[in-house]
Amino acid sequence: MSSLTKADWDSKLPIYKISPQKLHNQGIRCLLLDVDGTLLNRNTNKIPDEVKSWIKTSKNLFKLYLISNNPSEKRISSIGDQLGISYKFKALKPSKKITLEIINIMNETNKNIAIIGDRIFTDIIVGNRCKINTILVARLNREGLPVKINLTLILERILSLLLF
Ligand SMILES: [Mg+2]
Repeated sequence: MSSLTKADWDSKLPIYKISPQKLHNQGIRCLLLDVDGTLLNRNTNKIPDEVKSWIKTSKNLFKLYLISNNPSEKRISSIGDQLGISYKFKALKPSKKITLEIINIMNETNKNIAIIGDRIFTDIIVGNRCKINTILVARLNREGLPVKINLTLILERILSLLLF
């Protein structure tokens, strides 16, 4: 069952170093984006300029949707509004239900959809369970830079080896 926790692309890069054009060339037409850790650090409300610019480029190439497990509608709606992207808060990843609902709204075949997130046990597992492409990215710190040592991810990698 190791495939459940395995990202199709374990990038080790911050999201803004992922080439939108390269994803588009590979047939991706829709991106489901995790929010906390992926677009900005969970302890700040400031979206890094690099992320804003990446989103701007990506809007020309993909349908975008934010899917966050964060229960705060205030936070996720504020980020969605700033970026001009539809959003879902309290998405309960890795439970499939809500992510599947959004996949259905996107109206694309699964092979043309990718989820991008910073966690294996939520973003990657839900993506694999929903049979879409999965891209693991580096978590962002408050300054918008990739964190050097991500203990959550280290733990998730160890648990993946032990449990799956
Ligand atoms: Mg996250």
